[in-house]
Amino acid sequence: MVRARKYVVKRQFQGVPKQEDFEITTEELPAIKNGEILVKTEWVSVDPYQRAYNARYPTPYDQFGFQLAVVQDSKNPKFPVGSKVVSHKGWRDYTVIDPNSAPTPMDKAYRMPDLKGLPESLSIGAVGMPGATAYFGLLELCKPRPGETVVVTGAAGAVGSIVGQIAKIKGCKVIGFAGSDDKVAWLETELGFDKAFNYKTVDAASALKAAAPNGVDCYFDNVGGELSSTIINQMNTYGRVAVCGSISAYNEDPSRVPKASILQPALVGKELKIEGFLVPRWADRWPEAFADLVKWISSGQMKVQEHVTEGFDNIFKAFVGMLAGENVGKAVVKV
Ligand code: NAP
Repeated sequence: MVRARKYVVKRQFQGVPKQEDFEITTEELPAIKNGEILVKTEWVSVDPYQRAYNARYPTPYDQFGFQLAVVQDSKNPKFPVGSKVVSHKGWRDYTVIDPNSAPTPMDKAYRMPDLKGLPESLSIGAVGMPGATAYFGLLELCKPRPGETVVVTGAAGAVGSIVGQIAKIKGCKVIGFAGSDDKVAWLETELGFDKAFNYKTVDAASALKAAAPNGVDCYFDNVGGELSSTIINQMNTYGRVAVCGSISAYNEDPSRVPKASILQPALVGKELKIEGFLVPRWADRWPEAFADLVKWISSGQMKVQEHVTEGFDNIFKAFVGMLAGENVGKAVVKV
């Protein structure tokens, strides 16, 4: 009999999530049945949607999220003992999974992609859900063309850092906004962004006007709020906006969502196309993204960085640290 530890969300978050909102509990796992596997978690992901989706679920609920695990016992020939599995089973150390049962595309457990020797933790980052988000959000919705100017916010994070680098690979001029001078330096010197700004200290409107005198063609929006309105107001005719997230408001009271300048004059006047998306839309095509991302990373065309926290007991700390902007690249926890 295996005893598993897991994080349970005990109550709705108010503002920034607090340690007391969670409880680490244990449960005895049942013996595996035909088709099932028993896995031991190796890496756990902390992500902004774990904050944003909190209000959707009645408490208590088990904290969902992506994790990479190793198969310890198997009654499923597609997942032999020792193989690695990416699942959405969340913040827990042992899990019984039925890979044939997936109520939603996000719940579908799958074998770790062939990473060609790259670090396995990338399977919950640049070669996982966040990488697929950057890939499909940018290429399917923004459809950047060589020579165009692409702006990305949340630029030094898991999704944003990949978005900017894909845009560079596609021959675009890339401008990023991130929350510290160190992040700005990393984007410009390590990742090859043409220009980056610290949104906390710069006047975004004039900085962007100077960096993109010919206007912005594509905007990959990770943050929402006034910064996004400022960027959208500088877009060119037929510009494309992929709305990926609005982290600037995730910790706000949902009954008092912050206001930002209206966008209709820019949307109409410049005939912009703006589309929100959820990455499971392309769930059956994630392997396509993973193959390209592995190729780019292996060849050195794309750089990836991870912000690693050690220890199961530190997952909460890693989560609020990520929300506060402590991470450069993907925030992950080694359990
Ligand atoms: P991340 O960027 O690695 O981490 C979150 C970052 O958000 C922090 O590092 C912080 O960086 C920034 N941030 C925090 N508060 C902020 C604020 N008030 N204003 C601006 N930035 C703030 O996270 P990620 O996983 O790549 O996610 C980025 C965005 O994509 C989120 O909005 C997330 O919800 C969204 N997302 C959407 C999908 C989808 O399917 N639509 C899938 C994955 C992710 P700074 O230091 O720069 O502030």
